[in-house]
Amino acid sequence: MSRAKWLRWAGLACLWMLVACNQDKESTQEKVRSAPPVAHDPVLNFPADSGPLPAFDGERAMQYVKEIVKFGPRPLASANHKKVEDYLDARLKGDPVEDDTFTAETPVGKFPVHNIVAKFPGAKDGIIVVASHYDTNYPLRDTSYVGANDGGSSSALLLELANQLRGKPNDGYSVWLVWDDAEEAMKPDTEMPFMDNSLYGITHLAEKWQADGTLKKIKAFLLADMIGDADLNIDRDSNSTPWLESVVYEAATRLGYQSHFFGRDNQVSDDHVPFVKRGVACADLIDFDYGYNNVFWHTPQDTVDKLSPKSLEIVGSVVLETIRIVDKMEPLPPK
Ligand SMILES: [Zn+2]
Repeated sequence: MSRAKWLRWAGLACLWMLVACNQDKESTQEKVRSAPPVAHDPVLNFPADSGPLPAFDGERAMQYVKEIVKFGPRPLASANHKKVEDYLDARLKGDPVEDDTFTAETPVGKFPVHNIVAKFPGAKDGIIVVASHYDTNYPLRDTSYVGANDGGSSSALLLELANQLRGKPNDGYSVWLVWDDAEEAMKPDTEMPFMDNSLYGITHLAEKWQADGTLKKIKAFLLADMIGDADLNIDRDSNSTPWLESVVYEAATRLGYQSHFFGRDNQVSDDHVPFVKRGVACADLIDFDYGYNNVFWHTPQDTVDKLSPKSLEIVGSVVLETIRIVDKMEPLPPK
């Protein structure tokens, strides 16, 4: 869940004006095809390719999406929400898990919030965070909305990432997987701006980690949100850190998946913002065009039939490859 910004629409409007003017239809089409796909940013020294990755199991991740969705809507303070918390805990049984629980004061009352952090140690001094929210939109709590893509897909992705990290020696940075809570707005967008009543869980973690010194050790913060769409087009997000976006694109290119990345510019307000504000390098992996004109987003049509195991595999593999590249970049670019 997130906010598309006017920049994207302004871009589309300009393009539409070009078409409307009809001065040169062919060159207009060429502009569409040749939209800049790569982040503009300082030249980075990428480490050499270091061989094949462990296979990310997109089918198994898809099975996790189905299991999460089967509980039904999972808004804050609901019985289903608790069931999903228990489900995540059960999947992470035996892993080093830290719970971060607190009460959020929101415009519609006080709510229990529960972040789940699984910590997979590495040999290098530093942490790479991969995060996903798992709650569903509160204003939609009395509908059949289950957020298969929005909250479901990325939470399942992290479960499969845990399978890939568990029990394997890691000579890179520690990887912390974060299932954060209360990302969604508590009131409809029409009643209150998103940023004024959302991101409760991840903001609490950012504050806590700033206070206890953890924040300084975070080398990169990767956020996954709405990454299961069968028609996968990850946006290039201008709120994210340019050099880390470039690493993501490099990772995608090494895997032959670059055509699913950065065909479109966007500016996204999402769980990474509290970390961006605190100077942490962040990249939000989000496809905020879910169905034509994002038509399935925050509707009961956000269901598993719109998703594909291949999209989960693409994003999961790119996350793993991004981690591997960051592990070997010395020194990391300034923030
Ligand atoms: Zn959402």
